[in-house]
This record gives sequence, structure tokens and C-alpha cells, in this order.
Amino acid sequence: MKLWMKIVLPLAVAVFAGSAFIVFLSGSGSRQAAASEGGRAHVSATTGATTAEEGVLSVPEGSAGGVAVDSAGPEAASGVVRLSGTGEGAANENVGSRPGANETGRSDGSLANAGLVGSSELQVEHLLREKRDLLGVDPVRITIAATGDFLMHMPVVDSVKTSQGHLFDLIFESVAPIFEQADYTVANLETKLAGSEFGYRGFPLFNSPSSLAGSMVRLGVDLAATANNHTLDMGWKGLSNTLDALDEAGLPHIGTHRSAEEQERVHVVSISGVRVAFLNYTSSTNGMPIPSDHPYAVNMMETEAVLGETARARSAGAELVVAVVHWGEEYEREANEAQRTLADRLLRGGVDVIIGHHPHVVQPIRRLTVEREGQDFRAYVAYSLGNFVSNQRWRYADSGIILLVDVVKKNGKVRVEGVRYVPIYVQKGFKDGSMSFRVLPVPAQGLPESDVPFTGEHKARVPEVWEELFSHLDNPEKGITAVPSVLQGN
Ligand SMILES: [Zn+2]
Repeated sequence: MKLWMKIVLPLAVAVFAGSAFIVFLSGSGSRQAAASEGGRAHVSATTGATTAEEGVLSVPEGSAGGVAVDSAGPEAASGVVRLSGTGEGAANENVGSRPGANETGRSDGSLANAGLVGSSELQVEHLLREKRDLLGVDPVRITIAATGDFLMHMPVVDSVKTSQGHLFDLIFESVAPIFEQADYTVANLETKLAGSEFGYRGFPLFNSPSSLAGSMVRLGVDLAATANNHTLDMGWKGLSNTLDALDEAGLPHIGTHRSAEEQERVHVVSISGVRVAFLNYTSSTNGMPIPSDHPYAVNMMETEAVLGETARARSAGAELVVAVVHWGEEYEREANEAQRTLADRLLRGGVDVIIGHHPHVVQPIRRLTVEREGQDFRAYVAYSLGNFVSNQRWRYADSGIILLVDVVKKNGKVRVEGVRYVPIYVQKGFKDGSMSFRVLPVPAQGLPESDVPFTGEHKARVPEVWEELFSHLDNPEKGITAVPSVLQGN
């Protein structure tokens, strides 16, 4: 998610120019086709209606509008002011009644509430809608996006080396609009940003240029999950340097920590007035022991630890709990018994959405109906999102999904409506004689646009990616649907 004005203007320009763009907004079940009519974008926003039969989660009402980051940890409890501004905007808001909590956030347009913004009329419509949200007249809808693994093999890193350093942005340019239009994005950072003095490396001990953090921010990533099997690849110093690099880039992080206080803190953000907690745990550090003098370094996957943090998040006012977990077996397309058992325990224990990583291929998405406080409601587990970017070229590992979690808050009650997914393909080809990687959204038909020429292999593989992910995941009855609408601009 980015500051909405930043999106509105370029998008408006792009739309009026008749360029290609991706349409996926408007919440689950209400995707809309966009067409250029006489040079004007024709896109309507939808409000949608909540369905009475769906269970809800009863929580205290929060205020609406904007994204704020706060910390429900010892500092908040003791009244210590901690500002965590991202440098991107001004909106301060009071997101709860807890004394001592302090937030600095970003002004957010909550584009999911406004439909695709393509004209100044729609900007006005958006502002009016936000006002109505504040009054509780309309439901607040937000979309949380999640990526798979940023698995930074050296061919990927070397492909963006320039005399000014490593510039990763171009790799992600084609999928950036997806994150710009989501309200909040969490990504799995499966490498270290330990510094050049450690040397840049790929498998099996990853270390990548710190400039990746800035590229992620510009891509629209709001949060980096750092607990995974490569967390200790560069040791304790590599772990803490990585967090320093993320801080420097203004990218918040979860899952690994430099102090006990940092581990205690629950990451709760207010996204257009919906308070969402993000947790991050890993089931492995590739056998590397957690440094004994830094026992707080990594969140290791233990059911009680996750449920304990979930409870702390709830008591800090979180209305939705998202757990990002690193688990499962590499290259297995199905979740194993351990994942299924753990998912059941976490979802029945208070987690609303589990976002999984590690297998490097996409595993199924499952919906559970969970009873809490006498009410049924939907909980989802996406067992593995696959790779977001990597040099793994074989079938299934060369692709992945971007997950979109659609959440609605109405009358003070928050629930997950459904999840959508955008299939993606990592194109590896040559542009002007240089090896280039591009993360491309995969359309239901045809090829996406790319500045890197498609080879015969790419052209054959892209439709396959759509087909194999669609048949693996799609289940509209359970609120699991693909985003098919990547429109061609030529
Ligand atoms: Zn992994």
C-alpha cells in the first residue's frame, strides 16, 4: 500500500492513456472488468453487502481511516511514547482507548473501499465513502496482500547490479500495481541483509544487498516477515544487521528481534480502522542454534507461543490476527499432516488467517468454520504461497501466488469474507544481452506484458501456470477465487 494520492495520479494518467492495468479491487465476489471507453476509465466501485449467515467476531469499536502502527508491548503499557513513523505521511489517529499507546501512521486512501480510482470524481467519491465509514453507515472493506518468498539467488542479485549498486525495482514493476491497490502488504524475506562485508551469497547461506529493502518499500510492501530457515544464515550479527537495514529503509518487520522487548511487542496496525495483528514464526533454522545470549532472536514455531501472542494481540485490541508461518516440506504441493494439525489448532485457538511459506511451491488454501464465543466464522489457511522471486526454474517452483485477504468490518464486527489470489510467474530471459528476471502476473488468457522478450519456453509455461494454480486452488464456494483480469494494453 502506498499513499493514495501517489497512486491516484499515475493511475489516472495510465488509465487515460489506455495502458494496461490490473483490475482486482472491489472485494470478493465483485471483481469488475474495466474497459476504456472513449478514453475514460469505466470502473464502478461496489459496497457489497454483508451476509447475515456469516459468523462475526465481536470486538470493541475502533475509529476508521488511515493506517497506524502501534506496539502493544511493555513500552505501551508503561506509557512510553514510541513513534514508528514511516516518513510517508502525516495521519495520526487514535486507534484505541488503551492509555499510553502512540501511533504514527500513513495517510491511506483505502482504495479497496473506493474501487479503482481513475478520475477526480472517484477521488471525491472515495472521500465521501471514508466519511460514511467513520459514521459506521457503510462497511469498511480492506484487502491485505501477501507475497511468497523473496528467495534471492545470486543470478537474481547479479542481474540488477549497476555502477550505482543493486537496483531491484525493475524485477517487480509488473506486479507493483497489485500492492499499490491493496491496503497493506506483508512479504516473506528469505534472505539476510547483513551488509556487503559478509559477501553476497545465494543458497545455502543467503546474504543480499540491503538495497532490496528500499525496493520492497517502493514495491508497496508494508511489513517484512523475517523468521524462516535462513534467519541465522549470517549468524546473530547478520540477523541484527538485517533488522537495522529494514529500519533504515522504513520497512517494519516481524519474527526476529534484537532484544527481549522487541520480541514482546505485538505488531498491530490499524488499516482503515480495522486493527490487525501480524505474527511470524518458523519451524526451522536449518539446524543452526539460536544464540544462547540472544534467546529472543527468533520466533520458533510452538503452538503455545503463537496462541499466547494471539491472546496478547486480542487484549491489545486486535480485531483480526494474521499468522505468517514458515513450515512444511520443500517442493511438496500438498500440506503434510503436521501442517494440517497445527493449522487446526491455531485457527481454533484464535488466529484468523495463516499465511504459509517455505515449500517454494504453492500448496492449497483451506477454509475452516471456527466457533468462537458461541459464533461461527471463517478462518483461512494458505499453506504455502510458493516463491515470489527466485532462480528456481523447474515446474511449480518458477511460479507462486500473491494472496489477497478480503476483510470487512460492519457495525464494529470484523470478519474475513474470502481470499483471492493472483498467479505469478518468474520470467528469466535476456534483455539487451543481459540476463533479466521479471515477476509477472499471470492472466487467465494470453501473456502478461513484459519488457523482457518472451522465449518459446515462457510462452508455453505461462498458460500452464494459470491452469495448474487454478485447478489446485480455486473454490468459489469456499470464498477462494482467482484474479483473472490482467488486461492487455495493445
Ligand atoms: Zn524456507
